[in-house]
Amino acid sequence: MTYDQPAFDDHMSTVDFEVARRPHITVNNEVCRSCRTTDCVYACPAKLFVPTSDGGILFNYEQCFECGTCYQVCSGQGALSWTYPDGGHGVAFRKG
Ligand code: SF4
Ligand code: SF4
Repeated sequence: MTYDQPAFDDHMSTVDFEVARRPHITVNNEVCRSCRTTDCVYACPAKLFVPTSDGGILFNYEQCFECGTCYQVCSGQGALSWTYPDGGHGVAFRKG
């Protein structure tokens, strides 16, 4: 049996974000500049990691799905600080 994958944009239309003032994920560009693989750029489903011309990473936490993938794939020790958003904030999945 096969299932149709919904398009990413369709997924996004069923998601709300209650953006917290405190970033729940931060990136240490001192570490990222020596990263050879930049796995976060390819692995983040929301495409929130963007390489910069100086070898660093531009990161925006506001539309994070809180999936933890970036933390799992990152091999740069100390590059990512990862927590969940403060209570009542972050992603809210809804049907329809
Ligand atoms: S966050 Fe991790 S995987 Fe991404 S560029 Fe920095 S060190 Fe590399
Ligand atoms: S937790 Fe998931 S959605 Fe959020 S920044 Fe990391 S990979 Fe992207």
